[in-house]
Amino acid sequence: MRVCKFGGTSMADGGSIKKVMEIVRRDESRKYIVVSAPGKRSKADTKITDALYGCFNALDGGDFKDKFAKVTRRFCDISGELGLDIDISAILDGVREDIIKARSRDFTASRGEYLSAVILAAALDVKFVDTAGLILFSKDGELMLEESLSRLRAALDGVERAVLPGFYGSMPSGEIKTFSRGGSDISGAIVASAVGADVYENWTDVDGFLSADPRIVPSPKLIECLSYDELRELAYMGAEVLHPEAIFPVRRAGIPINIKNTFHPSAAGTVIVSNVRHMGEKSVITGIAGRKGFSIINIQKEMMNSEIGFARRVLSVLEEEGVSFEHMPSGIDALSVVVRDEYLEGKLPSLIAALWRATEADSIDVQSGLSLIATVGHNMTSRQGTAAKIFEALAEKHINIRMIDQGSSELNIIIGVDTFDYEKAINAIYTKFSVD
Ligand code: ASP
Repeated sequence: MRVCKFGGTSMADGGSIKKVMEIVRRDESRKYIVVSAPGKRSKADTKITDALYGCFNALDGGDFKDKFAKVTRRFCDISGELGLDIDISAILDGVREDIIKARSRDFTASRGEYLSAVILAAALDVKFVDTAGLILFSKDGELMLEESLSRLRAALDGVERAVLPGFYGSMPSGEIKTFSRGGSDISGAIVASAVGADVYENWTDVDGFLSADPRIVPSPKLIECLSYDELRELAYMGAEVLHPEAIFPVRRAGIPINIKNTFHPSAAGTVIVSNVRHMGEKSVITGIAGRKGFSIINIQKEMMNSEIGFARRVLSVLEEEGVSFEHMPSGIDALSVVVRDEYLEGKLPSLIAALWRATEADSIDVQSGLSLIATVGHNMTSRQGTAAKIFEALAEKHINIRMIDQGSSELNIIIGVDTFDYEKAINAIYTKFSVD
């Protein structure tokens, strides 16, 4: 049995929804379908979720009516293209009134997925099951996974086929709460875990997970199979396609994820599994991903190495200032902390002052303009030469390495380079591993 999630491009208009319907009808095992709100039909188009955030912002004295009229038109067009036998105008009138009454940003945004699911359920002639009251958040906005799984299981018990809206659930007060952007991936993973699906199919508009960013590397290879851990590393380091938090509900249930293309359904896509031994022979590295926008805080102090509690004092300051860190490479009398620039905004002077006080260091300096590149792959475990190849690739292109980090899990080698070398470095590493 499969749970399928269809993304915004798949739900963008009548034509793409017909493709979704074909995919669902082709295979009886595709029982529970989770959908996003209609996405962009072209580069210049507006996603329904963005249009709805615009409506919310216009509620107080803005042009809410005009903005919501555009949303109405979009859904009426879709319903018309599909020849549906539902009174979509009346449904949209109701939604508009509910938005005005609720005055909630999350509720307003959630209506995109709600309407998308209502439409697909009518088109397929299957049950619509609302995720409000089934996917649950605590009053602090934390997902309550166990409770959500049992509610979903009970609601779907005996239901042959159903369409569910992604992206949102509700809090104990009944108020609607959304995940972060792209969160329908998480909803799909929760539903898959609740019903014990054999596969979680995530239908999107690309053939699968690419081994590097196609905006940087021309035509990177498609990854046919990768592990949850590799996906987590790559997604965290900026590889898009799947919401990074979508992994947890399916990983703990041991359900593979299959990323598929609605517009090219015969392509095998990318399969994500828990056990790498199932993955067969593949190249040493699985993929390369990276992010710009980091700074390094360098702290030096004579005899630091014998000062017990030094690192704890540094980390306490970061905690007190609410700064999350990525890496902490250290020397004998030096310790560096790599931090995302966004965490330092407006906080740097107080952070540095607090570090001086806590460490009584000899020097503290901050260098910005750092980018991190992760070269990821289970197959580098116990193999010699992977790091050598990365360094060789960079040396050949005269790229200076500013930081190195490899955990003993040997899943990932992370290097820091100057941001002006970022694209060049990714290309150099990619080329080295695809040629050799
Ligand atoms: N519609 C939401 C967004 O645009 C959620 C999703 O599509 O997954 O972020």
